[in-house]
Amino acid sequence: MQPVSEAAAVVNLLDLDLESLTAWCAALGEKRFRAVQLFRWIHQKGEGDFGRMSNLAKSLRDKLAAAAVVRPLTLLSEQASADGTIKWLFDVGAGDAVEAVFIPESDRGTLCVSSQAGCAVGCRFCATGHQGFSRNLSTAEIVGQLWFAEHHLRQRLKLAAGERAISNVVMMGMGEPLQNYHALVPALRMMLDDHGYGLSRRRVTVSTSGMVRMIERLSLDCPVALAVSLHAPTDALRDQLVPLNRKHPLDQLLLACSHYLESAPRDFITFEYCMLDGVNDSDAQARELVALVSGQRGAPRVPCKFNLIPFNPFPASGLSCSPRERVLAFAKILQDAGIVTTVRKTRGEDIAAACGQLAGEVQDRTRVQTRLTRPVIRIEALPSGAP
Ligand code: SAH
Ligand code: SF4
Repeated sequence: MQPVSEAAAVVNLLDLDLESLTAWCAALGEKRFRAVQLFRWIHQKGEGDFGRMSNLAKSLRDKLAAAAVVRPLTLLSEQASADGTIKWLFDVGAGDAVEAVFIPESDRGTLCVSSQAGCAVGCRFCATGHQGFSRNLSTAEIVGQLWFAEHHLRQRLKLAAGERAISNVVMMGMGEPLQNYHALVPALRMMLDDHGYGLSRRRVTVSTSGMVRMIERLSLDCPVALAVSLHAPTDALRDQLVPLNRKHPLDQLLLACSHYLESAPRDFITFEYCMLDGVNDSDAQARELVALVSGQRGAPRVPCKFNLIPFNPFPASGLSCSPRERVLAFAKILQDAGIVTTVRKTRGEDIAAACGQLAGEVQDRTRVQTRLTRPVIRIEALPSGAP
């Protein structure tokens, strides 16, 4: 067995974006182009065995074998849905497991990636939130989901050399990505890197429940497409659905969104809105929403698209999904106001892979679970007849 100090010094190269890998290689006396070759082996070819990296000198391969590993995630299980969606569950140690979901469509392959084991935000309608929070994932664990999925799918789908399985990544799995900012940003950079996965900024989306200061930082460090989970047109209601609204109310959130657009790769923010029966789905609330995003409620106007997500129920939520006709009527009000609005198709429902159903296995190290399993207090909606 290796002595502890030696074992601890071994670096998992999945943790390093190209800049960090270059610095790490420099410390081994290697030039940048060697770091690029190594990075390409790992991320473009999915190679984890230094011995097989044929264009690297034997001396470098030996140095790598002594100082580093490419340590992928441990796969616990896979479930495939009738609609082609695949959900993988990965063991991340100490009783925690996280999920990634592949969603194939005719023109794209999207991977939904987790950023934390659990989530500390505790939104009332979210299965992950109900589980509580265990820990942040490392960069290697975040990008490792893409590493696994891309290389596994290339073989499984028998893709030709150079063909990619995954064209889009959405940080919409378990966890609040902006509460794990330091691990997230290098992982995003690896996704975007031409020597890595080469995804365009428009095809990598960070979804956040509204971490205002971190939205501003992301715009400086790594502007990718941004989705914001809005779910309510007023602070009174959002305070109850998304607890961090009490700290970062809607006017601050919309201000951060409008600043973000100055450096974003797209000229709109996607607002996600989970449709909850009798809670946030009335005509009056749709009109409030229009007023909010068009700058009539004190917050700045934010060019946006709406993505209405039918609520995916899970045991203990105490909530139900708005009826289909209600969702469509709500969408029509937004559309009539000139806002592009889509109703998200639910994918992978038969394998609990739909939005908000990802629950993995999380050791709740917070009191979130206790708080959220208290009997649900009916949330007061605006009167449906209100103008
Ligand atoms: N924490 C981030 C990203 C993960 S959640 C966020 O909140 O944005 C991804 C999306 O699924 C969010 O828009 C979230 O609000 C939504 N969601 C959570 N639970 C859901 C449920 N039970 N049904 C439908 N959508 C849900
Ligand atoms: Fe966390 Fe997002 Fe779920 Fe809210 S919706 S509890 S922020 S994962």
